[in-house]
Amino acid sequence: MVIRADIDLGAIRHNARTLARLAAPAALLGVVKADAYGHGAEQVANVLVEEGVQQLAVATVGEAVQLREAGVTVPILVFAAPLAESLAAYARLELGVTVSSPEVAEAVVEAARVHGPLACHVKVDTGMHRLGFSPEAVPEALRYLAEAPGVSVDALWTHLATADGDLDYAREQLRAFSALVDRLGPLAPLTVHVANGPALIRLTHEVARPSTLIRAGGVLYGLSSSGDLAPEADAAGLKPAMRLSTRVVHLQTVEAGESVSYGRAWVAPEARRIATLAAGYADGVPRALSSSGHVGIGGRLYPIAGRVCMDMLMVDLGPPQASAPGTERPHGSGAIRVGDEAVLFGPGGPDILRQADAAGTISYDLTCGLAPRVARTWRDGAPGGP
Ligand SMILES: *Cc1c(COP(=O)(O)O)cnc(C)c1O
Repeated sequence: MVIRADIDLGAIRHNARTLARLAAPAALLGVVKADAYGHGAEQVANVLVEEGVQQLAVATVGEAVQLREAGVTVPILVFAAPLAESLAAYARLELGVTVSSPEVAEAVVEAARVHGPLACHVKVDTGMHRLGFSPEAVPEALRYLAEAPGVSVDALWTHLATADGDLDYAREQLRAFSALVDRLGPLAPLTVHVANGPALIRLTHEVARPSTLIRAGGVLYGLSSSGDLAPEADAAGLKPAMRLSTRVVHLQTVEAGESVSYGRAWVAPEARRIATLAAGYADGVPRALSSSGHVGIGGRLYPIAGRVCMDMLMVDLGPPQASAPGTERPHGSGAIRVGDEAVLFGPGGPDILRQADAAGTISYDLTCGLAPRVARTWRDGAPGGP
């Protein structure tokens, strides 16, 4: 395989330590859903546990099965709202259940009777309007679950809609959650969690009061979900952990007026040197980067020319004179050869945030979207300084 993602586990260790310091005295829960945002759930889980992270979370039961089969023994919370038929697997694998409605609560009580003990994280909806009890319904749900044999209420939690954007709305949600915890008094579980990674970075002190646990996802991988978050994540010293690269597989010169790729969407304004790279949307390189993204070759950035194809994309290296044989410009496009490395994001190429912007999406989408055919390698160097 030519296209490859290189994953720096040392950067993830560094990020985990940085975030743990920021979160203290709250503990970190490492979010490793979607194959650890494309970074390899098993590899990342092992590194996080070594760094002292004592709980993990995934999105689906299938992802939790994969971690248990890999020998991961720490508590794992599943974020999804469970269907009744999957609760046997939660009991067998000792997974934390997201209890987000009266129907799920009833199914949990029944499943605990049949399949064995179940640990619940009761979810309250404070404004995301995705999953969760209304705050008013929480006391009754907690009592109902606490009385059921084999059922433990391990945590109460909520999720913020705008921690990477409008902080006023995030603060409203935080206030609603804190007020609920206060009202519950001794009925509140010992563990309460509200913050995702962006909230930890941007509302560090405000999330501290109602939190004993912080659900850190993208920040562990040095990713930012918005332009608001990015400079603050940088300032906190978080390091991107993935670099995506491929190779130049073909070089040609097109004349003025000739077009490149499907649909003839890019037409050469003058004679241009064009490099073809082995990377396309079937690898997870967004088709939305057509004529808008950049690629790093030999330490310089070049624009993508025309549509990104399924398995290849083309890059505009500029006027061909720079590439004439015997050129005096060793760092110009003339120095580019078939076989050279081309960086889609990471060191030597565009920053992942910039590439995601060009594709009209967020950096999470680029790492989560990598296809299975992209070869991944893991390097576990010692974490560098902050
Ligand atoms: C994905 C997810 C997180 C982690 O979010 P980040 O923005 O990646 O830190 C936290 N909580 C829930 C419920 C999630 O689905």
